Amino acid sequence: MARITLSNLAHSYFADPKGEADFALKQMDHVWEDGGAYALLGSSGCGKTTLLNIISGLVRPSQGRVLFGDRDVTDAATSDRNIAQVFQFPVVYDTMTVRDNLAFPLRNRGMDPAYVASRVAQIARMIGMEAELGRKARGLTADAKQKISLGRGMVREDVNAILFDEPLTVIDPHMKWELRTQLKSLHREFGHTMIYVTHDQTEALTFADRVVVMYDGRVVQTGTPQDLFDTPEHTFVGYFIGSPGMNLLEAAVEGNRATVAGVSLPLGAAYGTPRGHVQIGIRPEFVSLTAAEGLPVTIRRIEDVGRHRIVRADFNGTEINAVVEEGTTLSPDMTRLVFAPERIGVYADDWRVSPQGRQPGRAA
Ligand code: ATP
Repeated sequence: MARITLSNLAHSYFADPKGEADFALKQMDHVWEDGGAYALLGSSGCGKTTLLNIISGLVRPSQGRVLFGDRDVTDAATSDRNIAQVFQFPVVYDTMTVRDNLAFPLRNRGMDPAYVASRVAQIARMIGMEAELGRKARGLTADAKQKISLGRGMVREDVNAILFDEPLTVIDPHMKWELRTQLKSLHREFGHTMIYVTHDQTEALTFADRVVVMYDGRVVQTGTPQDLFDTPEHTFVGYFIGSPGMNLLEAAVEGNRATVAGVSLPLGAAYGTPRGHVQIGIRPEFVSLTAAEGLPVTIRRIEDVGRHRIVRADFNGTEINAVVEEGTTLSPDMTRLVFAPERIGVYADDWRVSPQGRQPGRAA
């Protein structure tokens, strides 16, 4: 197992990139700690697969180095990196049995047959395919084949890292939950470095200890699920994480006050005078409805989602959502919104501004 370092890395699929827009991955430095369970989260096209393929060696970066521990593997072949990779769609040998498919990576490395048999049995149990071990892969459903791919990815104990690229796309919803739980317990047991690519925040937040959020070819934040909820470093993290995501409002900020369309709101700290495109962000969980003070809004609708309600309001054409806890009484005259000051974030050109007016720093 190894710590994986991406140093001064960037990648363009163009032979002669003209500018930043031509780079699928903008210049970055990033470290994946040995034994970490990471999710790599971001919307379609932000560069997740490119990053994964650079780590596994399927793509050579146009700039920068990839290190496994202290070893520079930038020019090393995939086969020389000791990585297991599971793709979105199954990669199985149709003419082999389920058992032989699972055993393949171990036999290939000349492992002891008794060890192979016991490890294959353990993995088959994990993916729920003990009864099918003797069957040929041909004729199995797509989701059964994907379980074999997952099993094959996890069968070796000596890999540097296991990379998963949206591995549960073809798996039915119930099995998805179960496999994710299994992956997590496997991580606890064996401590492999795991990187799990997804665009689904639920998958990311339930699998990973640390979530790496990408946006437009950049890592915009790395943190625990709680960090991403409490202090989104970039507006994308704010609205991508959370259901609904963070509310964002155009604002002018001066010291410890923000002015939003002529309404002055208190902030929890002083921010100086941030320049650029300034917004404030507040999660719906920290917005409350009142009759007396705050931003005047039009309530569009109220959705009952079980344990709480989501109030969808309109303020000068901008939607603001509030999460209202069960048991809270709402009355028709409650058409003003109040934000918890200490939960308001200030953003300049999409990056979080630190209190005391320091301009935003880019997350590693
Ligand atoms: P998805 O979730 O849709 O798979 P992603 O976040 O994994 O997206 P990538 O597949 O890494 O994103 O793509 C990043 C950018 O690079 C996209 O603009 C994509 O069109 C482009 N791209 C990816 N692969 C290639 C390729 N082989 N040749 C040219 N451009 C590519």
